[in-house]
Amino acid sequence: MSILFEHVTAVTMDPSRPLLRDGYVLVEGSRVAQVSQTRPQVNAERVIDGRGRVMLPGLINAHTHLPMTLMRGYGGGCDLQTWLNQYIFPAEDKLDSPSVRAGTDLALAELIAGGVTCVADMYYFCSDIAQAVADSGLSANLSRSLVAFQDQAVEEMASWKEMEELYSQWHGYDDGRILVDASVHAEYTSYACPSLWEKTGRWAADRGLGIQIHISETQSEHAKCLQRHGKTPLALFDQYGVWQARGVAAHCVWVSEEDMALMARRGITAVHNPVSNLKLASGIAPVPDLLRAGVNVALGTDGVASNNSHDLLEEVKLAALLHKGVRRDPTAVTAHQALAMATVNGARALGRNTGVIAPGKDADLILVDFTHPNLIPCHGVEENLVFSARGSDVVMNMARGKVIYENGTFLTLDLERIRSQLEGYALPHIFGR
Ligand SMILES: [Zn+2]
Repeated sequence: MSILFEHVTAVTMDPSRPLLRDGYVLVEGSRVAQVSQTRPQVNAERVIDGRGRVMLPGLINAHTHLPMTLMRGYGGGCDLQTWLNQYIFPAEDKLDSPSVRAGTDLALAELIAGGVTCVADMYYFCSDIAQAVADSGLSANLSRSLVAFQDQAVEEMASWKEMEELYSQWHGYDDGRILVDASVHAEYTSYACPSLWEKTGRWAADRGLGIQIHISETQSEHAKCLQRHGKTPLALFDQYGVWQARGVAAHCVWVSEEDMALMARRGITAVHNPVSNLKLASGIAPVPDLLRAGVNVALGTDGVASNNSHDLLEEVKLAALLHKGVRRDPTAVTAHQALAMATVNGARALGRNTGVIAPGKDADLILVDFTHPNLIPCHGVEENLVFSARGSDVVMNMARGKVIYENGTFLTLDLERIRSQLEGYALPHIFGR
């Protein structure tokens, strides 16, 4: 199928043509075929009028836990450890396949409506998550997160077998729309079993996969790791060869100068999760320092249970605002840098050919309606996108060349069915009401 966007303004994230005004974007199959100022000489099967809209590469949520959408607003007012132990772990104990599927579908609906086309997920019940992602049309890097509270034979762990099964069943699905990453949950949930780090790192590196890990989210986690091993979580995992795989380090709130140098050297991405870090009172990641050190910084929402939304444009705004205020420097993170985190940097983090509107890239494209009152007038397109736009201003989501959401209508999901699964089964099953 070929689709031509005409008279569209596009923020491309392509340094050779950063802003296209009143131009043309041609999509053929799953890829962008042409970006031009003049109309391509083709008979496209569909023409979409881009007037009044701004096109962006589909947003990339580089750290989340999709099914945790079930726990939106649950256990507010706690720090990370209290929240996990008193609220989240007991609720997660009751999860089963149908409730995970319902929670994942809900998450995907919210992500799609907010302009996200690709996610990195770390959880369990991964085959249910993979099927939901496959049905939705989105792209995802899925990982089965490993924990170990005692020293044990890693390859005998049920979770290790689930990771291998996820890889053999889903890695590369639909021309790479689904990729499988490895994942160690965190140092604080695996320090009893260091062989887990070595084996998971090698397993991922041997297959050319990414590895998703929570890193230095809270001050106490970072300090206890230093006490236990004399090393920060990043340096410790480096000692065990973990970063031979493509590293995706979520949070990085308490990383040191040496950690940042290591991240730049090893090509480890820091995923900034500003809302979750603020809500759980974990702190504020040193994003301007990470950028200065040459670290790739992407953006994530984290699970909705600690956010409480999947609106990535909210993270973009906060990523651009927060550091200005903290550093008292209006240039600490620019609007363009914040947009890059949610697009091109996220693509680099996840090893994907997307995040930029240019020929040959995956046609992951969104349209934001700039006729909405909160986007008038427009003195600067990026300024409006970062500081004035909301997820609800997204009016079209195209994932790999297929329109999956348009003017409030989901074309791959049935929101009524998702609501009835939640109300009729998942929520009463987990919360007993
Ligand atoms: Zn997380």
